[in-house]
Amino acid sequence: MPEPMLETADLRAGYGHITVLWDLSLRFRAGALTAIVGPNGAGKTTLLRALTGLVPHRGTIRLDGQALSGKAWDLAERGLVMVPEGRMVFRDMSVEENLHLGAYPRRCRADLGRNLERVYGLFPRLKERRHQAAGSLSGGEAQMVALGRGLMADPRVLLIDEPSLGLAPVIVQEVFGVIRRLKEAGTTILLVEQNTRMALSVADDVHLLRGGRVRLSEAAAGLDLDRLHDLYFAREQ
Ligand code: ATP
Repeated sequence: MPEPMLETADLRAGYGHITVLWDLSLRFRAGALTAIVGPNGAGKTTLLRALTGLVPHRGTIRLDGQALSGKAWDLAERGLVMVPEGRMVFRDMSVEENLHLGAYPRRCRADLGRNLERVYGLFPRLKERRHQAAGSLSGGEAQMVALGRGLMADPRVLLIDEPSLGLAPVIVQEVFGVIRRLKEAGTTILLVEQNTRMALSVADDVHLLRGGRVRLSEAAAGLDLDRLHDLYFAREQ
């Protein structure tokens, strides 16, 4: 089996005295799309935040076999890039200015023009609207800006939090079409998604979290959906 690109061992994280993630040992394979699913409050977003250094953790996180420092800046330099839930676009800035903000890691500044063209290739609508204020975009377009901003950092591992949130079904299909293309282009992706059906439609591997613990880790192909359903909705012991 090839070495996983990203892995955690006994990862524990939370907020102040509240522990949210309990000793997670997870492997994310290089070039694969791993879906992290689970009910509200399971700790999915907290996992992405721990991986990107936004909440403190205990245990280890390794990228290509090397422990990560946990400092957000170092992580971006090493290629770990998050597209946050809620999009967080800067409303008064133009689409293109928002995209430029994504190119902050030093290693990708020289490729800014090439990365911008790649983003516009994936999202032609953003090119048409590049001078428009991001605050005037639709929800789907704002999600595209958020994804595009992540791509401007030339990610080796892209962490995407709830991309379907609040979007109409037809727009969800469009956003997932782009995620599928990114995966096919070889980007390693961690996808947190409430919409399990959509997540499974693009995933290679699946981790189910509930109550801050891993309840299932399997390949998406051939996954027993009844078992997933039962584990998803099981009551806490
Ligand atoms: P959802 O799908 O609802 O976003 P989730 O699986 O992503 O859920 P998290 O957002 O990681 O779950 O939240 C896990 C737990 O941590 C919840 O009980 C939540 O209330 C708590 N939590 C999240 N953010 C904070 C914070 N900043 N301070 C304190 N507790 C927090």
